[in-house]
Amino acid sequence: MTHLIGSMAQDYQPPLRPTWDEYFLMLAKLAATRSTCLAFPVGAVIVQDRQVLATGYNGPPSGSVHCITQGYCYPGLLSCDSNKALPSRAVHAEANAVAQAAKHGISCAGASIYVTLEPCLSCLKLVISAGIKQVYYETSFNSGDKAVVRDLFIQDGLVSLKQIVLSEAIAQKAAECLMRPISIPQTQLQP
Ligand SMILES: [Zn+2]
Ligand SMILES: [Zn+2]
Repeated sequence: MTHLIGSMAQDYQPPLRPTWDEYFLMLAKLAATRSTCLAFPVGAVIVQDRQVLATGYNGPPSGSVHCITQGYCYPGLLSCDSNKALPSRAVHAEANAVAQAAKHGISCAGASIYVTLEPCLSCLKLVISAGIKQVYYETSFNSGDKAVVRDLFIQDGLVSLKQIVLSEAIAQKAAECLMRPISIPQTQLQP
């Protein structure tokens, strides 16, 4: 019997498992599915000691009509980011996550934030002032002068930024998990 278990163990391949970074990035991507701005979806998750403190996504302030409900961001303007003169109607995802934490009396001191898009400078400043020390993002955003200002904050040791990539295999696994109920005993899956 011990011999049988031994040979089975040799063939055993553990299921794919996301890293912590992949796990929280996927949660941020799920949060982004709740976005209510037509510009593009962004999601954020604030994490401390591997626990989620708050989540957020981009959309107009609480109580204000959603861009996706009215079908435009401003009259005649399909996207909040397509007009330089008007500010975005949306509260950005990371700002919403910080606001959610504030609303519920949760400290972000020493926390990390996972975002689907690198924070704009306004959000980066807010994140720093909220005490968040690490930013993990999927897509780059700042360039030129904005990147210079960002890098000054980093050089001053106020915050660190790291781009992370979700592996294709984990993304595939997550997609399969979303497509069907998954908490089913293996024996019931056999034909
Ligand atoms: Zn909008
Ligand atoms: Zn922002």
